[in-house]
Amino acid sequence: MRDIMPVNGLFEMPTLPYEGLGDIISKETLSFHHGKHLKAYVDNLNKMLPGSGMENLPLSEVVKKSEGGLFNNAGQVLNHAMYFEQFSNQTSPMGEKMKVLLERDFGSVEAFKKEFEQKGATLFGSGWVWLSVDAQGKLVITQQKNAENPVTMGLSPLLTFDVWEHAYYLDYQNRRADYLTALWQVVDWAVIESRL
Ligand code: MN
Repeated sequence: MRDIMPVNGLFEMPTLPYEGLGDIISKETLSFHHGKHLKAYVDNLNKMLPGSGMENLPLSEVVKKSEGGLFNNAGQVLNHAMYFEQFSNQTSPMGEKMKVLLERDFGSVEAFKKEFEQKGATLFGSGWVWLSVDAQGKLVITQQKNAENPVTMGLSPLLTFDVWEHAYYLDYQNRRADYLTALWQVVDWAVIESRL
């Protein structure tokens, strides 16, 4: 994954590379999710960093070393930066390398997607479902609560779907499973493969 560095001791707002994602995620959802929720996490992180002893560390290091409120805000900035970056209105299809890895570790691309959706749908409360690479190079799917990120478990994250209600409630209400199924249509596999 591409880490995020602070600029003059502060983290910048991750960019949103699109305004809307067609019928999959509305502009209204994105304006709240990126413009309000993520903005608050970035602002809180920057308020908590001074004096923490973690100024000038890459964001993933802050996530690994922090706890409490600093961990929650640092984790949510890293999680959302990866989430928003991985979607596009002009997606690149999955490449051969990714396809071979998914087939090796899950049997088929469809079996991988089914397990990923199922783990996202069954995560109780707020959190994230992740695809990561473990220390042996194997692909693994994890459910992470609240602000957790797989880097804290020694994993290298590739793909994530946000299952906090704020990510889907305006468009899908309580139908989290429908949101998860729809998201595949806007995943840009070139971005996911760049994280390998
Ligand atoms: Mn979110």
